[in-house]
Amino acid sequence: MKTNRILIGGKWIASSSGKTFESLNPATERPIGRFQEGNSADVDKAVRAAKAAYGKWMQIPAPKRGAILLNAARLLMKEKENLARLVVQEMGKVLPEARGDIQEAIDTAEYMAGEGRRLFGHTTKSELPDKFAMTARMPVGVFGLITPWNFPVAIPSWKIFPCLICGNTFVFKPASDTPLCATRFIQILEKAGIPKGVMNMVTGSGKDVGTPLVRHKDVLGVSFTGSRDVGELITKSAGVKKVGLELGGKNGIIVMDDADLELAMHGAIWGGYGTTGQRCTAASRVIVHQKVKKKFERMLANRVKRLRIGSGASSSTDVGPLINRAAVEKVHHYTEIGKEEGARLVCGGKAPKRTGFFYEPTLFTDVTSDMRIAQEEIFGPTVCMITVRNLDEAIDVMNGISYGLSSSIYTKDIRNAMLAIGNIEAGLTYVNSSTIGSEVHLPFGGVKQTGSTREAGIEGVHEFSETKTVYIDYSGKLQKAQIDT
Ligand code: NAP
Ligand code: MG
Repeated sequence: MKTNRILIGGKWIASSSGKTFESLNPATERPIGRFQEGNSADVDKAVRAAKAAYGKWMQIPAPKRGAILLNAARLLMKEKENLARLVVQEMGKVLPEARGDIQEAIDTAEYMAGEGRRLFGHTTKSELPDKFAMTARMPVGVFGLITPWNFPVAIPSWKIFPCLICGNTFVFKPASDTPLCATRFIQILEKAGIPKGVMNMVTGSGKDVGTPLVRHKDVLGVSFTGSRDVGELITKSAGVKKVGLELGGKNGIIVMDDADLELAMHGAIWGGYGTTGQRCTAASRVIVHQKVKKKFERMLANRVKRLRIGSGASSSTDVGPLINRAAVEKVHHYTEIGKEEGARLVCGGKAPKRTGFFYEPTLFTDVTSDMRIAQEEIFGPTVCMITVRNLDEAIDVMNGISYGLSSSIYTKDIRNAMLAIGNIEAGLTYVNSSTIGSEVHLPFGGVKQTGSTREAGIEGVHEFSETKTVYIDYSGKLQKAQIDT
């Protein structure tokens, strides 16, 4: 088994800790690679390398940086199948979804490469004569990028490409469950021509690598995607740095009495059990109108019972494994909680006796909005059905949680759809489509405890740049704003 290294200043080296950890295939529980247990000394070295490379990188014209990103897109396209198979092996999702993970990175590279020829600011009129006013996009400096394991290539790409196009350098700390995907991705970017020191990667734990990275005085920007609990810790450690947070979700699908139930059922299945429910945008709540509750429950249960679990590599698998043993225990713990709270378990609710971190697709019904299973992020293949009397109640249930990431409504009535769009507290609302499926040229992010960051699209560029306001006075006189008349 290969021992992988960390990347600092263009050199792949061992951590100064002298220790390593293993990454497992969640379908087989077998190790697939050994990785460096980085520490604060490695972080410090990596930040110094990123800081040293910054001056030159930020001077390179943005369209030239864009050309490197386009090169990365081409290499990723060439490696798409290999990378997708690696995602299946290390993270567990089914192959078509793993291909989507890589495609998202390709799309992001292309979009951000184009952004190299825009990075627009504004021009506007000054209130004074012979004075010119405009804004310009500026890089931030050294970024610390911390990512989760559920989109082991796509999420790093959402940070790395806008970070680079804006002229920043970075130190990347990938999730400890998917360091091989991260390593392979970074090697491809290296091949694309990103200069030494501009990009650095240190593997290791959140405590030993993540925290020192966030705290480091020369790290001026932090971009984090992960759980709310860690997000809160990051806010505290980072202090007044520029911090972007993409945290959890408890997303809902509203199914109105006038909905196309067949369509809604497919949306609930895809949203609830796709990626084994391990998406921040997973549809973990189905909020159904009482008039169609019985029928919809039957339709959904029939389909859930037929979902096949297995290795993501097999074409007959619908639902792959969870990421690790702890995740299986957490999901099962919530099954127990749901039963104790009085929700009715329709199907699933246990881990099958087999090798791998599998859990049966689980459906609870007769759930009420105050139950813990309806409030807390389970991050597994568990869907809770909540019955409501009308749209107002549905929207109250939708909003009655601490998170605010994604949401959806199935209805044929434009009025229902417009009221949902206007009143749901979430960063994303889908109409007649599931809670998942964002496109890289549109902003992505949430409200409330999900954090208010927007990644992807032009707003993703803003996350990784600062706005400079510029005034040019060519009057040859001392002019005072608000004071001269
Ligand atoms: P996590 O436990 O918060 O970990 C995320 C990253 O933070 C990992 O790289 C982790 O390192 C690191 N980390 C852990 N403790 C840290 C600390 N004290 N300081 C700095 N970094 C630390 O989340 P996860 O379990 O990997 O991912 C699932 C969560 O991510 C869910 O809540 C999900 O909703 C959320 N998520 C959100 C979005 C979004 O865009 N809103 C997208 C995907 C996932 P280790 O791996 O070494 O522990
Ligand atoms: Mg693993």
